[in-house]
Amino acid sequence: MEQVPYQTRELAFARLVDDVQACRRCPRMEGRRRVLGRANGPLSARLLFIAEAPGRLGADVSGVPLTGDRAGRTFAALLEAGGFERSAVFVTNAVACNPRDAGGRNDRPTAREVANCGPYLARLMAIMQPDWVVTLGAVALDAVRRIAPHGLVLARDVGRPVAWNGRRLVALYHPAPRALIHRPLPVQRGDYQHLAALVATEG
Ligand code: SF4
Repeated sequence: MEQVPYQTRELAFARLVDDVQACRRCPRMEGRRRVLGRANGPLSARLLFIAEAPGRLGADVSGVPLTGDRAGRTFAALLEAGGFERSAVFVTNAVACNPRDAGGRNDRPTAREVANCGPYLARLMAIMQPDWVVTLGAVALDAVRRIAPHGLVLARDVGRPVAWNGRRLVALYHPAPRALIHRPLPVQRGDYQHLAALVATEG
């Protein structure tokens, strides 16, 4: 993969962060934190994890994707199971802001919101050029499909790497409690160990 010069990458990322921080495309995200910045991870990371959306008790408070709530704690344990250092991977979401329902609870982002935020995700990938893109859950898998087509279906293809958009794409389940019903924690631990083996053997 061709490397982007360090300064060019830093400048492009700073512009992207500015644009995201100023974004007002999604009406129900008014007042929410825009979770994209240096705390997401190093731009030189080889692995880019994409989850669904910042959580109300997690990233909307901490400013760091998948930290501060139950999903974040599970994600940390899964990274550890695979031998990944959190400081060596970049973590973001299909949408940069926390969607909430009328009752103030976490909500799934709408298709419109995912489409609104898609260009920012595409810019992030173009800036980083990660070797591996790892989606966490169906929303993230759909978000990357909007950038370039892929034939992956989460339940069928979990953990199976495919060539995609100049890099490797792997679909995993989201670490949120509701996803653990479909993919229990011990199985997800195995998914991260499998991912680590893939990265080690395929580069
Ligand atoms: S989710 Fe993305 S597109 Fe929507 S307001 Fe937030 S930054 Fe903008």
